[in-house]
Amino acid sequence: MSAAASGSSPGSPPGPPPNIVILTGAGVSAESGLSTFRDPDGIWQQVRIEDVATPEAFARDPARVHAFYNARRAQLPAAQPNAAHHALARLEREWPGAFLLVTQNVDDLHDRAGSHPLHMHGELRRVRCLACGARHGWDADLLTTTPCPACAAASLRPDIVWFGEMPMGMDRIGAALDGCGLFVSVGTSGNVYPAAGFVQEAAHAHTVELNLEPSAGSSLFRETHHGPATQVVPAFVERLLAEWTGAGGGGA
Ligand SMILES: [Zn+2]
Repeated sequence: MSAAASGSSPGSPPGPPPNIVILTGAGVSAESGLSTFRDPDGIWQQVRIEDVATPEAFARDPARVHAFYNARRAQLPAAQPNAAHHALARLEREWPGAFLLVTQNVDDLHDRAGSHPLHMHGELRRVRCLACGARHGWDADLLTTTPCPACAAASLRPDIVWFGEMPMGMDRIGAALDGCGLFVSVGTSGNVYPAAGFVQEAAHAHTVELNLEPSAGSSLFRETHHGPATQVVPAFVERLLAEWTGAGGGGA
């Protein structure tokens, strides 16, 4: 494996810290008990994408779509952030350079660990009104008759990016990728674009894959570590902080 900070040697000042972009996917939440999507036993083996996760599905049968997301939202309180979420929250807190966490996950585990992620695929705990555009934090079930708290129209939808829709925050993500010196992909399958293309957008930077197994795009990364997220992510964060801030150890 190659060191994250090429050119530095033990004991020498490493220079200015690189700006970091971290991308996370379902693999970071799997050990918290939330189903991943593309694994053999994942969610998309149990329901069809085109029945619950497209604008056409919502137009055709909104009650079914609501039921699917209501069930997933209801699972959240039983899941807890794991050591990988906590390690990334610590990195965000302690990193001396610019830092952006981008997640494809619609769960709230990064948030509950103390991170401030950009949810590029939306959030289970948020709804959006198709009549007035307002977004609302949401923990209850959503029905086709539920009125918008802002305008009272029964036009709420999950604030989730469905297949065929544009992910959120792409301008901010693109700028961060352009300016980053370190890009780390955590627990992503490498199958879903545009996120799967971020490693190529960050080709000027040092690129690292942390995943249970080599992803579809694994060969595009300069450095890879494979194993459970709860092991490889804390170890990577510990090494990075020790290298750039001298603040290794402890691990809280
Ligand atoms: Zn409204």
